[in-house]
Formats: sequence, structure tokens, C-alpha cells
Amino acid sequence: MTPKTIATILKDAQIGKEITIKGWVRTKRDSKNVIFININDGSTIKNIQAVVVPTDIEESIIHQVVTGAGVAITGILTPSQGSGQDVELLASHIIVYGTADPEKYPLQPKKHSLEFLREIAHLRPRTNTFGAILRIRHALAYAIHQFFNERGFFYLHTPIITGSDAEGAGEMFRVTTLDPKNPPLNDKGAVDYKEDFFGRETNLTVSGQLEGELGAMALGKIYTFGPTFRAENSNTARHLAEFWMIEPEMAFYELEDNMDLAEEFLQYLVKYALDNCSDDIAFLEKRLLDEEKSLKKEEQSPLPLREKLHFVVNNSFKRLTYTEAIKILENSKPNKKGQFKYPVSWGTDLQSEHERYLVEKEFNAPVILTDYPREIKSFYMKQSEDGKTVRAMDVLFPGIGEIIGGSQREEDYDKLIKRVDEVGIDHETIWWYLETRKFGTVPHSGFGLGFERLVLFVTGMKNIRDVIPFPRTPKSANF
Ligand code: ATP
Ligand code: MN
Repeated sequence: MTPKTIATILKDAQIGKEITIKGWVRTKRDSKNVIFININDGSTIKNIQAVVVPTDIEESIIHQVVTGAGVAITGILTPSQGSGQDVELLASHIIVYGTADPEKYPLQPKKHSLEFLREIAHLRPRTNTFGAILRIRHALAYAIHQFFNERGFFYLHTPIITGSDAEGAGEMFRVTTLDPKNPPLNDKGAVDYKEDFFGRETNLTVSGQLEGELGAMALGKIYTFGPTFRAENSNTARHLAEFWMIEPEMAFYELEDNMDLAEEFLQYLVKYALDNCSDDIAFLEKRLLDEEKSLKKEEQSPLPLREKLHFVVNNSFKRLTYTEAIKILENSKPNKKGQFKYPVSWGTDLQSEHERYLVEKEFNAPVILTDYPREIKSFYMKQSEDGKTVRAMDVLFPGIGEIIGGSQREEDYDKLIKRVDEVGIDHETIWWYLETRKFGTVPHSGFGLGFERLVLFVTGMKNIRDVIPFPRTPKSANF
């Protein structure tokens, strides 16, 4: 029989019944005539405490019940005598599946640094912090599918191996089966990819958007939700080399519709987490407060985690154009005092420090910036009448900066081709994409949400390496 999870046991609270819990020992504490064993099975942040009377259980078994051991404990569920829990288990039988050498088990019942935990990513899901993060991550993934399903979007599986490098020239991971020591060469002396597995150069995708647009041109509203890969050497707390992205793409949506959807989507997801992950979020809120105690006031989060999340759910996002934002930044105090690391002027890309100034200082709310200079945005974005800007939108979040990047797409074939040629993309690699503008082209829009940036926001964590089970970053792909 499959065991009930601790989450279910605590919910049902069937006092007086004999039950079996299976999980891992978090702590073991000897008291006068009893031993207290705290078990966690991952189903919830809550443990169940088993109370063992040493005379009831063989000593050799009790000896193996140590922090980290995998066990099954059977007993009667009773109201707890002690504080800290409502129920506890009076143990009558224990099976130890596997003990854990206390000298060697890295996860001692004490606080470990996040840096240390990254080195033991195979075990860190067993900590309260990572258990909470991974359950929230799951809940958000589920909510994403639910949100789109409720609204008539179809989940489209776009390819992970791609032959187009239209989006991310220079920052892609090559996919090849050629021998790196002895690749076949063509008559010009260059590597002959015709002999490679796919008969051409291929890479891991940086975005499913281009294929997503093909889906939207047939199914109306689609979304992708898959892994994306960027070999950008930016060792920041917001970038991974492998991350997950959600990319909806909608026929007949213009920029305003796109913004409305992005705002509704983010608010829905944050609300879903608040409604369904309250124990885990409460734990992370407390963790963050403890963590930030030692920081200076201005480095602390302005709001406790749950208040921050409620704020996003209950307040509409501030919408303004890039041009308006630049004016605000130019006149801002940090700019006048030379406190920005990167200068601001019309035409330059906004850096994270600028985005965060707008969100955290100027508006104190999530911000959607639109109508960016065409030179700093992708070739497929819809060109505006002014000839200078494109119908782009970035959603900026407190503590994060950019969480969503999107746009209305250029649906006019001639304008698109002109831009493709200006930026120097080979028609051959995206002929299929260009054909959508020849056969029944319609206005359409879409955006990309970085899943880990969302999880960062909801969990209040500060480093993106701590919100994905097994992070991939420059010089690091362990586990
Ligand atoms: P940034 O300027 O932060 O590098 P970007 O402009 O490269 O972002 P897009 O190409 O628009 O981002 O991708 C859409 C979304 O994917 C971003 O808004 C962000 O949430 C997420 N994202 C982009 N790059 C990464 C990365 N390396 N790791 C994790 N998430 C990312
Ligand atoms: Mn980037």
C-alpha cells in the first residue's frame, strides 16, 4: 500500500488511528525516557514528530535512526503533548531503509549557507528552504498550464534543437556529433557541417518564439513552456545558461492586448502561489527577514514577502514608453549625482540599475515599458510610424528588473524583409518564418516570461541558482 503523505495525514488528522509515515529523519532528540524523531517526506514543509519509548523498539534500530536516514515509522496518531505541533505519532514499529553516517552526511541540523548548499545540490532539496522553493516552483508550473488552458490557449512543443540562429547570434550552444579533434573539412578548409548529424549547423534553442508564431498562425493562441539555452557569459544573479521560458503567442492581439495578458498572467500566478503555497511562502518570508536582519536598512526588502506579493496582485502595473522612462531617468537624482554605473540617453539599452530605479524608486510598482528604439530590439518587432521605435514591451519587477520581454510582431512582409536585411540575417535559415507574412499574415503579439525570474520573485530568493534544482552557469554543470 502506498503510504499517506504527511500533508494528507496532517489534513485528515485522524486521531487514534494507526498510520505509517515514510520519509527522512530531520532531527533526533533524546529526552529523559523518550526519543523525539522529526520526519519530513517532502509533501509539505511540516514535519511529523514520532515519539519513541526506547523499551518499545530494538536498540540497534533506534541507533540507525539518525539525521538523514530513510525510515518508515508506524504508530498511533495522538494529540501532541508538546508545543510546536498539533499531533504526533506514538511509534510502535520502525523500519530503517537506509541510515546515514553522521560523520559524512553533509546536511547537519543547523543553518547552512546557500553557497554551500549549491555544492551539494543532490541533497539540498531535503532542506526546508529548497523543499519550499521546489514545491512553489511546481505550483507555478501547474498554474501556468491552468491559466492558458482556461483561456483557450494550446500548449505547443517547439523544438529544442534548432537550425536557425536568428535570435541569439554568438550566444548559442552548438549541437554536433562531429569529432572535435578531427572534423571533416570542406574545400575552403572550414568544418563541413553537411557531414554533421543533421546535415547542417544546429544549436540549442534560445527561444521558441519563431516556431511559436507559426503555431499562432494556425491555432490562434498558443504557448510554449520549455527549456532555453544561452551561452552568454554573464555571471549575474539573474542569468542561467539553461532556463525555462513560457512564450505565449496570439493571433489578432495588438500591443495593448499583449500588455493586458502579461499583467493578468503575472497577477494570476502570484495569486495562485499565495492561495496554494501559504505554508511555504510563510516559511520563506521568515527566512528572508532573518537573513536581512544583519543588512543596512536600505539593503533590506522594503516589504515582507507576502505583502510584496499581495501588492503585485492588487495594483495595476504602471505603463509608460521608453522615451518617457529615459526622461525620468535623465532627471533622476542618481543620474545627476553620477551614481548610475551606466549612462542613460535615448537610444541606449536600459540596464538593470535603471529598470530597478523606475520600479523601486520612481513608481514603487511593476512597470511595463513600451516603444523601444528599434536598434536595440529584435528584427521581428512591429515598426512604428515614427520610423524610430518598435512596438516592444518589457515588464519590470521589483528586485528583479526585466521579467518579461515581448512585442507586437511585424506582420508586413516588405517591412520585415527590410529589417532582416539590415541586421544581416540569411533568408535561407528563416524562409519558413518569412512565409507566414506571405500567406494570410495577420497582426499578432507575444512575450516571453523567464520562469526562474518568476520563481525568484515569488520565493524572495536573491540568486537564480537557488530556484532551479540543478543550475547551469559558466564553468558549472555538476549533477
Ligand atoms: P536580460 O536583458 O535580462 O538578459 P533578455 O532581454 O535577454 O533579458 P529576452 O530575450 O527578452 O530577455 O527573454 C525573455 C525573458 O527570459 C526575460 O524577460 C527573462 O525573464 C528571461 N531570461 C532571459 N535570459 C535569461 C537567462 N540567461 N536566465 C534566466 N532567464 C532569462
Ligand atoms: Mn539577455
